[in-house]
Amino acid sequence: MPLPAIQKPGPLNIGLMGGTFDPIHMGHLVTAEEARQQFLLDYVIFIPAGLPPHKSKEQVTPAEHRYIMTTLAVMSNPFFVVSRVEVDKKEPSYTIDTIRYFTSRFATGTNLFFITGADAILEISTWKDYTELLKLCTFIAVTRPGYPLDRLDEITGKLLPELRARIHLLEIPALAISSTFIRQRVALGRTIKYLTPEPVEQYIKKHGLYKKEFVNCGNRL
Ligand code: NAP
Repeated sequence: MPLPAIQKPGPLNIGLMGGTFDPIHMGHLVTAEEARQQFLLDYVIFIPAGLPPHKSKEQVTPAEHRYIMTTLAVMSNPFFVVSRVEVDKKEPSYTIDTIRYFTSRFATGTNLFFITGADAILEISTWKDYTELLKLCTFIAVTRPGYPLDRLDEITGKLLPELRARIHLLEIPALAISSTFIRQRVALGRTIKYLTPEPVEQYIKKHGLYKKEFVNCGNRL
């Protein structure tokens, strides 16, 4: 994974955008760009999960498809790159292993920011070695407008204050789009134009992805 060459005094700030990306959509891209600006990130590395520890193989599209779609989606942004570190793993990928991998590859003092959905962070106390994880990187918990924050407050309130201070919230209106919404629309034969970049839309069409998604979504689509 070639990284952008950044010359600047002081440590780098690197965003690590973790997600299943099944598929990646405009909400993810807006999120990464907003985090880059608000947290002064030098660049953002997208890390499609191989097999997320909390999901079964049947629940997710093969990792190679998700990796290729992510690569197609970020192509036009020089500050975005995609890593294969999790998709190349045979076993479930734990975030702590990914963060240790990046910690060992960047200069001492580099600041790492793990960006992901607030719903995923609600479960953080069940993640492998989560106290070490919160020491190694800052978390950016991304929410949609209207997201109920009380549950997140309750969960993070149980953490030690110094760990709690490592979790920041970022509200992204464009996250009204979700991967589930896109999969359901494809299954119903509805358009996904402008919900995901065009090369991703074409890739989904060409490989016949998401045609058999279970659909029970009323008239929301
Ligand atoms: P998920 O349960 O599929 O998603 C939870 C919510 O977060 C969904 O609404 C999802 O929307 C949103 N989301 C996910 N990634 C996002 C991102 N980067 N930016 C904005 N919204 C995002 O969660 P997941 O994708 O499987 O897992 C998220 C990350 O947490 C992954 O990197 C995974 O490896 C990590 N994780 C680690 C452990 C562990 O180490 N034990 C356990 C669980 C998760 P969309 O569906 O639209 O993306």
